[in-house]
Amino acid sequence: MKRYLRKPLMLGIYLPAAALTLGAFSYQPLEYSLPLDLPQPVAAQTQADEPPQLADLNLPDYVYTIQPGDTLSTIFERLGVSQKEMYQVLESDVSILALDTLKPGDKLGFWLDQGRLVQLELSFDISHQVVFTRASEEEFEYAEVRLEGEWREQVIAGEINGSFFTSAKRAGLSAAEVQSISSLLQDKINFRRDLRAGDRFQVVRSEQYVDGEPTGKTRLEGLRVLNRSRELTAFMFDGNYYDLNGESLARAFMRYPTKRSYRLSSHFNPNRKHPVTGRVRPHNGTDFATPIGTPVLATGDGVVTRVTKHPYAGLYIVIEHGEKYKTRFLHLSKALVRKGQTVSRGQKIALSGNSGRSTGPHLHYELHINGRPVNAMKAPIPVADAVGKDDRMAFNQIRDRLLDQMNASQG
Ligand SMILES: [Zn+2]
Repeated sequence: MKRYLRKPLMLGIYLPAAALTLGAFSYQPLEYSLPLDLPQPVAAQTQADEPPQLADLNLPDYVYTIQPGDTLSTIFERLGVSQKEMYQVLESDVSILALDTLKPGDKLGFWLDQGRLVQLELSFDISHQVVFTRASEEEFEYAEVRLEGEWREQVIAGEINGSFFTSAKRAGLSAAEVQSISSLLQDKINFRRDLRAGDRFQVVRSEQYVDGEPTGKTRLEGLRVLNRSRELTAFMFDGNYYDLNGESLARAFMRYPTKRSYRLSSHFNPNRKHPVTGRVRPHNGTDFATPIGTPVLATGDGVVTRVTKHPYAGLYIVIEHGEKYKTRFLHLSKALVRKGQTVSRGQKIALSGNSGRSTGPHLHYELHINGRPVNAMKAPIPVADAVGKDDRMAFNQIRDRLLDQMNASQG
């Protein structure tokens, strides 16, 4: 491993009053408003002659905005926080794997006590933060904050002129959204072959807002492709997509990520306690006692969003299955897919292993629904099914509301 020279930075000492900028670091005095749900400084409640006490414990000492090419090591080094502490945070991160999702523009808030890290906040946007808080000399604990905010809808309509991809992009959809639409309707239409110039499409897209500010997250609520005499539709209902008649557009999931069955060596347990410290160390997945080299299968159709190495999770893969479902595979020995690749249910994506910190060869498998880990052995997994009888009315209402918007967009 690379060795780092300790060069203690004395940020904030020279210019405590003004905002000090060094590279992308900014020392932010009290005007920094926390995007977090942490307790805000409480005013008043003071004795008559006492000045109000500022609870500046709640404000980060430094806020760093991630730049292209940054690594966690270099960021920690520049703040003079030890690599040992970085590994303590990474150890806690193995349950959530949030640090690997940092991208340029995301913010890191550091709370330091005489150079020692006491809290680290990852702020992905105003609706989503992860906070690592020191629990002891050796350990950090994490908490995740997600604000639902409100979703505002807009209709994006266009006409095919050239490929669907360029036409949809021209109308205002992102590449990822175009890809989602293509995979949603893949069994119904061949976008390269079947679409003709003049075919039309309408998409109802919603955008997330928290406190009136867009978070950058979007969701496809419904869409329609008018292809000559055919009409292809998709409507989101309860996190899944259905056609006009309420038939599911998603293919069923598999319960197990392997072809053969293997002994479950460790169950999903959000309240698992560390055997020595007694602190909660969530086990967000299911462990299978797979020998090294066991083929690992995608449990549903999806897109590979991460193939990366983590000091504790080892080599791991993340697959997103539409808006609602996500799966993770940890401690692999070899990845057989690449980031951005589309995979189908049952496809061999990796070989199991014993990488990272692992007590022996096994496969750690996670299923997340709406951003939260669930017990993959018990959770309701997508079954290729129609909207249930009891939900028909609710589905029809949503569908008709979305169709009204699409119709109105045609002018
Ligand atoms: Zn595990």
